[in-house]
Amino acid sequence: MSILQVQNVNKSFSGLRALNNVNLTVEEGHVHAIIGPNGAGKSTLLNCFVGRLTPDTGTVTFNGTSLVGKSPHEINQVGVARVFQTPEIFGDLTLLENVMIPTLAKRDGAFALNAWARVDGERAVIEKAEHLLEDVGLADKRDVLANSLSRGDKRRLELAMCLVQDPKLLLLDEPTAGMSRADTNATIDLLKRIGERGITKIVIEHDMHVVFSLAHKISVLAQGTVIAEGKPDDIKGDPRVQEAYLGG
Ligand code: ADP
Ligand code: MG
Repeated sequence: MSILQVQNVNKSFSGLRALNNVNLTVEEGHVHAIIGPNGAGKSTLLNCFVGRLTPDTGTVTFNGTSLVGKSPHEINQVGVARVFQTPEIFGDLTLLENVMIPTLAKRDGAFALNAWARVDGERAVIEKAEHLLEDVGLADKRDVLANSLSRGDKRRLELAMCLVQDPKLLLLDEPTAGMSRADTNATIDLLKRIGERGITKIVIEHDMHVVFSLAHKISVLAQGTVIAEGKPDDIKGDPRVQEAYLGG
């Protein structure tokens, strides 16, 4: 069963066609990778899924609900969470507080700072946040300020902040960008583990090792167009993909 359907999506920026009739179907429970050279339109496409951008034409349907025209907040409420290319965390708060915020914000219907002030007595919220920190391997740093984390740990924290929302669909824009090989492998393991919860994931990724370790299906984007789509083994040998990467 598919969870996300993208049909004929187009998006231009003052004459530049960033997305050109993009079609995509994401199956529930899958890891769907979107790969392609720099400037291919990958982030633009993701931004159209989360309401940061509105497609010029075309439809994006999540679980039967149209996402086009909805605000990022509304899209988050229907179960879509996103890990950004640059981590968006609260540097002056502890890790535990960071992971409590999404739950409190959702419950109170107000975002962030006024919500986290209500931390007192929120045992269930604290416990859930603690479990998530454990899951991403940051339990020992729960009382440390998020500012002080390494880049890899910041991304792990952000992932915990997404998972705490129990999303149905998780979008990851280059989750291993700038990471060492060891951190990259730890992230692959982590994403595999959270895969066991049945959360559908769309992953934009440059690192082919990551893509082929995780993806059930791959869509290849080049100059705003999906030039190939299929299982990892089919994509690996596809001459159109190699041409796109070699600057053909
Ligand atoms: P990718 O994530 O695949 O590297 P992007 O989606 O970021 O590619 O960009 C696709 C194209 O759209 C690029 O040519 C980029 O310069 C352009 N672009 C992206 N965002 C904007 C924007 N907000 N304004 C103008 N051009 C943009
Ligand atoms: Mg990008």
